Amino acid sequence: MFFNANFRKPRNRAKKGDCIGGNPKVGTLNGVLYMDLAGSSLCNRETVPFLYTDSAMSCLFCKIVEGTIPSTAVFEDDLCYAFADLHPQAPVHVLVVPRQHIDSLAGAHLDDRPLLGHLLWAAAEIARTKGLTKGYRVVVNTGEDGGQTVDHLHLHLLGGRPHSWPPG
Ligand code: 5GP
Ligand code: ZN
Repeated sequence: MFFNANFRKPRNRAKKGDCIGGNPKVGTLNGVLYMDLAGSSLCNRETVPFLYTDSAMSCLFCKIVEGTIPSTAVFEDDLCYAFADLHPQAPVHVLVVPRQHIDSLAGAHLDDRPLLGHLLWAAAEIARTKGLTKGYRVVVNTGEDGGQTVDHLHLHLLGGRPHSWPPG
């Protein structure tokens, strides 16, 4: 049985029934790597098989979402995971990432609109729980000119100090 595990909706989703036979831990279909997460504590929703693309396999934030790279969790739900930035630029500096791999805001599709709204809501919810009543900044660095260094869509939530404008 394959599970989506509630994270990383495949961008190249297989059709139901496109199973690769047996119950292997890992396999390939049409050149794309499958990983069977049955039995993982992350599995709580049975869906169509999840496909790990090359970008997701090598992505730092995908590994943080999975837990194979440690992070300090701040918030999580079925769509997103939020964790403390390793190099905080403000007293509160939280990264909010979708569980599914999307390269950047520029790579978001029409059907990602609810997810994008959810990420903004999550940032606001975290700001509330952090007591950022004086305000905060949410930043989505996108692409080379935007200063994006990790190619997995993420929102920076920055708070606890005043922020100037224009940004650098
Ligand atoms: P970007 O420059 O792509 O907008 O933001 C990437 C952010 O990820 C940076 O603020 C950087 O400090 C943070 N970052 C990079 N590697 C790690 C890591 O391994 N763990 C955590 N928690 N944050 C990281
Ligand atoms: Zn990723």
